[in-house]
Amino acid sequence: MTGYPDLHLFIGGAWRKTADTLPVVNPADESVLGALPVASKTDLDDALDAAAKGFRLWSRTAPRERQDIILRAARILRQRGDEIARHITMEHGKPFHEGQAEVIRGSEFLEWDAGECLRLYGRVIPGAEGIRHTVLRQPIGTVAAFAPWNFPMSQPARKIAGALASGCSVILKAAEETPAGALHIARAFQEAGLPDGVLNLVFGVPAEISSYLIPQDQVRLVAFTGSTAVGRHLTGLASQHMTSVLMELGGHAPVIVCDDVDPVLTGQVGASRKYRNAGQVCTSPTRFYVAQSLFSAFTDSFVARAKGLVVGDGLRAGVQMGPVANARRLEAMQVLVDDAVSKGAELRAGGRRIGNKGYFFEPTVLANVPDTAKIMDEEPFGPIAILNPVTSLDHGILEANKLPYGLAAYGFTHSAANVDRMMSDVEAGNLSINTLEASLPETPFGGVKWSGYGREGGEEGLHAYTVVKNVSHRMAIG
Ligand code: NAD
Repeated sequence: MTGYPDLHLFIGGAWRKTADTLPVVNPADESVLGALPVASKTDLDDALDAAAKGFRLWSRTAPRERQDIILRAARILRQRGDEIARHITMEHGKPFHEGQAEVIRGSEFLEWDAGECLRLYGRVIPGAEGIRHTVLRQPIGTVAAFAPWNFPMSQPARKIAGALASGCSVILKAAEETPAGALHIARAFQEAGLPDGVLNLVFGVPAEISSYLIPQDQVRLVAFTGSTAVGRHLTGLASQHMTSVLMELGGHAPVIVCDDVDPVLTGQVGASRKYRNAGQVCTSPTRFYVAQSLFSAFTDSFVARAKGLVVGDGLRAGVQMGPVANARRLEAMQVLVDDAVSKGAELRAGGRRIGNKGYFFEPTVLANVPDTAKIMDEEPFGPIAILNPVTSLDHGILEANKLPYGLAAYGFTHSAANVDRMMSDVEAGNLSINTLEASLPETPFGGVKWSGYGREGGEEGLHAYTVVKNVSHRMAIG
């Protein structure tokens, strides 16, 4: 079991085991790392009771005190960075240094929102003589949060940060494949002195847990990160109960490369970012629309970088890309590549599973991919890049906007006029120019169109977790 943590649910401040368990598998060698406890309805009822008590207490806790506890937890997580990174690599597959970076990022989410909780300002609206209107921002209630497997620590951290900073209690269902990141966060909060019941952690069958928790009156926000299909389903369920949603859903990020940049450098930058986390990132740069005049040089540079990547067990020194996270992704990659090639795409790098133990897939580059290929509509969520030429910026923007997704988009250019055009016309919640960094704790992150509702991070990050109450106060009765 090589030091992987013993897994428990965390309910009402206590750790518990369950009769039912699921295996957690190491994607690098398919060995079983541990037994994941599966929550029963009784466990979920206990979590709801605990979260109700937790909310009563935490929503009345002074912001400064909330901030202190969140910052203490973030400090503990940073101190344990290497241990947590190792567990993330074991369960998810990403290289150890990416796990370390993830722990830092998750801690930064907590630190940013801890600061924001001191700035949950209301306002006073002047009224007629003797009347004052006061606008308050109050915590929304218990949050049912669902975190995915691609960032086992930073994704749960982001949701917990927003909820706890706002004064909400949380029932977090973390990903079954990658439970250790969330487990470490719960441990850190317990040690930091978070009152019992404010944060509850469950695992289980995702559809059973969401269909049980979302209809409960007490649950006032469903915060989900995952695919558009599941997000749509959960939004439908929440709407039956007039429950708010915060949805961070799929993307299929376009990258517009204009004709005024260095194609070799831009190709290297593109390939370095594409294969981070084995491409399993909702903001992963995927559809590269490259100015025709640069296409050949850009493609050669991108392909050379992709072919040079060291792929292997993320715990091995020097590894730059690990396996994909599960067998489903491995199968999905092969289906998408085979389909694209059968429709006429050029396979310029990779395209096959590596070996037959562990879920390793080659860093893959497809060029001149026709619109009829599935991958042009379906987010690959894996190590596959699409490189297509475009005749102009207008053409690039048209291609970028043609999908129903709008999470991240990228542009490379030195021209202010091109930047201005992309700022106006690219349909995305996040547009980055000359960088493939899409989100920071201090910037608002989220999608438009099918990529979701609401924002995490930035000044907007606590909006979804709070409700606005207007109080009109007449000094004299009448
Ligand atoms: P999936 O659609 O089955 O699951 C996606 C996530 O949703 C998982 O974390 C899963 O536990 C959860 N989930 C599924 N059904 C649920 C339900 N009824 N209630 C609550 N949670 C539920 O697919 P998958 O194979 O796990 O992942 C593949 C796809 O998911 C990818 O193609 C990608 O688009 C998407 N995804 C997106 C993100 C992201 O950061 N936006 C993260 C992980 C996965």
